[in-house]
Amino acid sequence: MITLKNLEKSFGNHKVLKGIDLEIEKGEILVIIGPSGSGKSTVLRCMNLLETPTSGDVIFEGKSLVDKSTDIDEVRQKIGMVFQNFHLFPHKTILENITLAPVTLKKMTVDEANKKAEQLLKRVGLLDKKDTYPAQLSGGQKQRIAIARALAMEPDMMLFDEPTSALDPEMVKEVLDVIKELAEEGMTMAIVTHEMGFAKEVADRVIFVDDGKILEEGTPEEVFNNPKNDRTKDFFAKVL
Ligand code: ADP
Ligand code: MG
Repeated sequence: MITLKNLEKSFGNHKVLKGIDLEIEKGEILVIIGPSGSGKSTVLRCMNLLETPTSGDVIFEGKSLVDKSTDIDEVRQKIGMVFQNFHLFPHKTILENITLAPVTLKKMTVDEANKKAEQLLKRVGLLDKKDTYPAQLSGGQKQRIAIARALAMEPDMMLFDEPTSALDPEMVKEVLDVIKELAEEGMTMAIVTHEMGFAKEVADRVIFVDDGKILEEGTPEEVFNNPKNDRTKDFFAKVL
């Protein structure tokens, strides 16, 4: 589905990614863990070119995203992204939040988009909120709406950047359950998270990123139960 090849990213003189090689297969669930500031979000943001790599390549469904002839807006439509802070449109209703992109970018009719949005709202258990505004929802509800909004574009892949980090503890599960369901349905996903229990449960593969490099890579069992790198062991000693 997507391949990162010797990806490097600098902000000014600050080298943030120092050669990331990574491949995600169709249907695979990759979980990215690592300390704050290690470059996890930057890796994710390079996957849909929210950040432009300094060097290296990103190949999505066979097309290089750094190639000038690639239509990056078209690619972005196929890669849904969910952020820590929801990024909902505050002045639009929940239904409008979900239908905006399908109607404007995918040229869906309003009727079709509404129907699709209602199915998605049902699926995340929030159909009764369709005419409310984001400010009227809890954090967990907002994040479920953000997921529904991303799914409305029928993406081939989903990126989650710490989807539960801004939530009160009692709302974490309702969001993780939605992501788990997506996983079971075969959605290809890259998930940055500090929820280690969830990572173990849902990941096909885990990578540990530190200081812009992948230090560890394997199945959840391999990475969590038998980390090879001292930095990984240190990290687990602090978070587990
Ligand atoms: P993580 O998600 O693992 O916490 P990030 O990928 O957000 O890490 O950031 C990695 C490093 O890059 C940090 O030192 C951060 O300050 C820096 N960084 C991220 N985005 C930018 C930016 N737009 N401009 C300058 N520095 C940035
Ligand atoms: Mg981050």
